[in-house]
Amino acid sequence: MKFASRLVHFNSAPGDPLRPMATPIYQTATFEQEHADSFGQYDYSRSGNPTRRVLEDQVAALENGTRGFAFSSGMAAIANVTHLLKSGDEILADWDLYGGTSRLFGRVLPRSGITVRYVNAADPANLAANITPSTRMIYVESPTNPMLRIVDLKAAASTAKQHGILLCVDNSTMSPYLQNPLDLGADITLHSATKFLCGHSDVTGGVIVVKDTKLADEIYYLQNAEGNALGPFDSYLLLRGLKTLKIRMDAQQRNASLVADFLAKHPKVPQVFYPGSPSHLNSAVHQAQARGGGAVLGFTAGSAERAKSIAERSEFFRISVSFGSVNSTISIPVKMSHASVPEELRGARSTPQDLLRLSIGIEDPDDLIADLNRCLEE
Ligand code: PLP
Repeated sequence: MKFASRLVHFNSAPGDPLRPMATPIYQTATFEQEHADSFGQYDYSRSGNPTRRVLEDQVAALENGTRGFAFSSGMAAIANVTHLLKSGDEILADWDLYGGTSRLFGRVLPRSGITVRYVNAADPANLAANITPSTRMIYVESPTNPMLRIVDLKAAASTAKQHGILLCVDNSTMSPYLQNPLDLGADITLHSATKFLCGHSDVTGGVIVVKDTKLADEIYYLQNAEGNALGPFDSYLLLRGLKTLKIRMDAQQRNASLVADFLAKHPKVPQVFYPGSPSHLNSAVHQAQARGGGAVLGFTAGSAERAKSIAERSEFFRISVSFGSVNSTISIPVKMSHASVPEELRGARSTPQDLLRLSIGIEDPDDLIADLNRCLEE
């Protein structure tokens, strides 16, 4: 079955004799048990809930994995994965990561004795050269947030395999429609489901998908032990949003490519970062591992003041953190999504102060371009 069909043809209510088209919301914390000394399929929604389970099975299928797990946020999913490690272990991470991930890695993990070393993973040789006896996991995004740098995922997977360590890929900027890290050799892929999986800015959620059953058991153990799974209503909303992932992403990506072309030709725009553009750094690697440029792009404005005034003057691009929604949004990463990057990492990352990040929605592209044109000219 092709991807578009898989988005809508799945078992929406396993075991339900009424065969509803939409997955029912099992808004219950507990499930009555027949016996006092053994459990049925579900007993307590922290441990498992039928609505969440349909979502988890669906994201696992879309990422070509065997098991999926849904969490209350992308950060909860990332925290879960880091709890696979123990004191003394090290994560080798790319230095361009979502600000909240940098905060978790830099300020929270050290409290449990887990350290994170950062490298420029856009050059795969840097990963191989920086593995130490303590390294247990390579952690990357591709394209990264906010610079949209490309990491060669097959090369990263081969380095991880060679050293018997895990590769975890945050696939939020692409969605399973455009990229499947597990097929490229990653052990774990995860998403801020708040982004493209949801698509409507109405749920915060996170998902993890793996292939290996032993790893799946460990992740499930942590999900249940830590109690950060997604609730039934939010699971339902994500299931609803997911059905239109392909048509949303196709429209958003088409618009993004038009906006990127417009910005690239604009004399007042110094630099554009769009993974779908042939001149983007490591574009050949991206084209080999993904099926499109996506709908997130960045551009520099010339100065921080100008970036602020462009963002504040735009009418169609609403100033907002996050990305992936049907509405176009604009943000200044250093002031917003990445304000939480620990001080000591800022120098190495050198995220431009005048960088604007756009998430392109499903509006008419003429409106978006006219709006940006007006903001850039003023
Ligand atoms: N990963 C990436 C790439 C993100 O951009 C974000 C949030 O913006 C997260 C993870 C965290 O997800 P959430 O905000 O759903 O916790």
